[in-house]
Amino acid sequence: MTSDMSETQRNIRIFATCDIGREALDRLRERGYRVEVYGQLEPPPKSLMIEKVRSGIDALITTLRDPIDREIFEAGKGTLKVVAQDAVGFDNINRADANEYRVPFTNTPDVLTEATAEFALFMLGAVARKMYPSERLVRENRWGAWHPYLPFLGDEVTGKTIGVIGMGRIGQAFIKKAMGFDVDFLCYDPVLTPVDFLNGVQEEMDLRHRNGFSRQPRMVRRASLEEVLSASDFVSLHVPLVREGEQSTFHLINEKTLRLMKPTAFLINTSRGPVVDEAALAGALKERVIAGAALDVFEQEPLPPDSPLRDPEMEDRVRLFHHFASAGRTTRLSPDPNQGMAGRCVQSLIDVLEAQGSLAAVPCVINKEAFR
Ligand code: NAD
Repeated sequence: MTSDMSETQRNIRIFATCDIGREALDRLRERGYRVEVYGQLEPPPKSLMIEKVRSGIDALITTLRDPIDREIFEAGKGTLKVVAQDAVGFDNINRADANEYRVPFTNTPDVLTEATAEFALFMLGAVARKMYPSERLVRENRWGAWHPYLPFLGDEVTGKTIGVIGMGRIGQAFIKKAMGFDVDFLCYDPVLTPVDFLNGVQEEMDLRHRNGFSRQPRMVRRASLEEVLSASDFVSLHVPLVREGEQSTFHLINEKTLRLMKPTAFLINTSRGPVVDEAALAGALKERVIAGAALDVFEQEPLPPDSPLRDPEMEDRVRLFHHFASAGRTTRLSPDPNQGMAGRCVQSLIDVLEAQGSLAAVPCVINKEAFR
């Protein structure tokens, strides 16, 4: 602790509901902040969080496992100054409640964009090319004679059409990476139209074709949700979870929308579990309404033991991951706010606690409307 540390800084108390990474948390300690980290693997019970907040902590570091709502804000009335979420998604934080109590909350955009986008692409490849069944065959000593099409074949990605739902940071990064597979893209986003980005992608595709990198001309364009679903060979979801209102994405993919997809198509979900009606998806997979799915997120996490998605009959067509898409070493742990979620999370917390002017001007504050 440096001697010129202000008394105010020394008195700042932070409770982290999870160890987000020692190096990043040390950045807070170096500033003289007192940091307490909940030491268990499981998230703390809500009653403990309330107790901590009521004891007068200034800042909470949270993850997507922690429900942050009125009860928390009421307990921290007059003392809680910021909730810093170690994730880009913040559907676990009740925005209206935060606004009512005028508590800013922050997230960690940008730093996890590339890791999540590349994982979505790997998931797509894994389910399409049957990587898991192939490896299992080898491991279980069931690899028989080489045969042109037995015991199974995969589906190529090259030359296909990929539908991208949600054209924000991760959706765009996904397109940039998948472009090398010489695919066409159909994109749906009712809020954002990234015209320059789409023009840039088309120019790149044209250049690849002119230089002989891709055999056929390829295209990217916006389309309706119905067209994206009905014309794509792969549909990748990159929307936030919004449970209510006009912009709701809750069960965006449901029995009706699944029926729009081709029977040969695959669904990829790295967004949030409740964006997909999981019961409807399991039914659609079982009835072969669609060919397969690769899922990183679920309506209930961890995935319950009796989930129909675990049906062994569809094991070869369904890839399941443990909310792992952003889990690259640097992406999760780097204390650098431009590289790691941990670094971005603590930087946002510092930015809010040490803000001189309006909190609406602090970049990572999500609920800016409460401070205008
Ligand atoms: P972003 O805000 O940059 O992009 C989201 C896009 O979705 C926006 O352009 C928005 O206009 C669009 N959108 C909103 N409603 C829509 C709808 N109904 N239909 C189509 N598009 C809609 O967010 P991002 O950084 O790209 O992250 C997207 C989401 O990915 C996050 O909210 C988070 O839930 C999830 N995520 C998951 C992981 C993981 O580990 N699996 C990692 C990072 C992010």
